[in-house]
Amino acid sequence: MATRAPFASPLAEALAEDVLERLLRYARIDTQAAYRAPQRPSTEKQLELSRLLVGELLELGLEDARLTEDSNVFARLPGASGVPVVGLIAHVDTTPDVTAEGVSPIVHRAWDGEAIALPGDGRQVLDPERLPELAARIGHDIVTSDGTTLLGADDKAGIAEIMAAVAHLVRHPELPRAPIRVAFTVDEEVGRGAEDFDLEAFGADLAYTLDGSGLGELEIETFSAKAIRVTIRGLSVHPGTAKGKLVNAVKLASQLVESLPPDRLSPETTEEREGYVHPHRISGNAEQAIVDFIARDHDDALLEEHVELLRGLVAQVAEREPRADLQVEVRDSYRNMRPYIEKSPRVVEAALEAIRRAGVEPKMALTRGGTDGAVLSALGLPTPNVFTGGQEYHSVREWASVQDMAAAAATIVELAGVWAEPA
Ligand SMILES: [Zn+2]
Repeated sequence: MATRAPFASPLAEALAEDVLERLLRYARIDTQAAYRAPQRPSTEKQLELSRLLVGELLELGLEDARLTEDSNVFARLPGASGVPVVGLIAHVDTTPDVTAEGVSPIVHRAWDGEAIALPGDGRQVLDPERLPELAARIGHDIVTSDGTTLLGADDKAGIAEIMAAVAHLVRHPELPRAPIRVAFTVDEEVGRGAEDFDLEAFGADLAYTLDGSGLGELEIETFSAKAIRVTIRGLSVHPGTAKGKLVNAVKLASQLVESLPPDRLSPETTEEREGYVHPHRISGNAEQAIVDFIARDHDDALLEEHVELLRGLVAQVAEREPRADLQVEVRDSYRNMRPYIEKSPRVVEAALEAIRRAGVEPKMALTRGGTDGAVLSALGLPTPNVFTGGQEYHSVREWASVQDMAAAAATIVELAGVWAEPA
């Protein structure tokens, strides 16, 4: 057994067990979202956690804790007057890509640095030699799933940190604090977290999502993203009499995917600010096939180019098989939040200061995805994204460090204090 790693600060240490206990409790509730469901939330089961959180917020004594008509959890904690109102946001849902049924979290106390074999699936091993972030956390308390599901630290670590921080503020009314607004959204993972978000009812002047990853990271840059659906209609004929008649939509879909550039413009060949066009789902039969893409880039002009490239590839398939009908439908998902957040430099400075006070060296990072904050920032609520301490998201190998989660919770408490000070 390794020596247990120290905490970033006494405050982080004081919050650690509450954060852990909450993560373990919230992670066990299956809140998996679903793609392209007509209703909101996309899955009813997300609200099981939302309702539990309303109950816990009421028990803590927060004001006006409730589930809104748009399925968000809202609550308020009063604070100093004459200072900005600070929003804290996390999402209850988990990705549709990995199952969350029967999550059984495991805590590896004072992790000794050996590869972690997840007991539910022999193929799933967290090997520190391949995971530098993990290798740097010998002695940390590491939380994983059993290897058969995701853990759901995305974003239940964020929820646990907000709840533990708010509980601490309630227990310590002597600490100077700005007024706080809490929101827990649904369907963030399917790009609909901030849909119909009632900014006026929320009542914050600025906000932070707790939906980032590595220790100390603050994200003010996201991709701009579009969802693109290509619908291919062929002509289905019984294979016995199909000669000269069948137009197979499955084959045309396959040609379209195959025509994408092999060595660039994909998530698996790009990093940092480089964008991509990513086919993430294919469905259908000989009569009709649907290919769903996401296109993402930090640069809006380049994003348009990616969409045009895909339109060109679709046109080529259509040209080769004029009997088929190909339709392209493009939807905006979210925009890079950077230009909006840069208008409010104090929102960034306060977060960097709070991270420092929590005992952590802050670093600016960018996310190769979106957050609820991207949508909210564009609507006028500047909302950067703060680290949570979770890693390897959207995977059965997802893990989180208790020490890092505690530092995130401490950052939230410090944020409430920083915003209570005069500008
Ligand atoms: Zn998330």
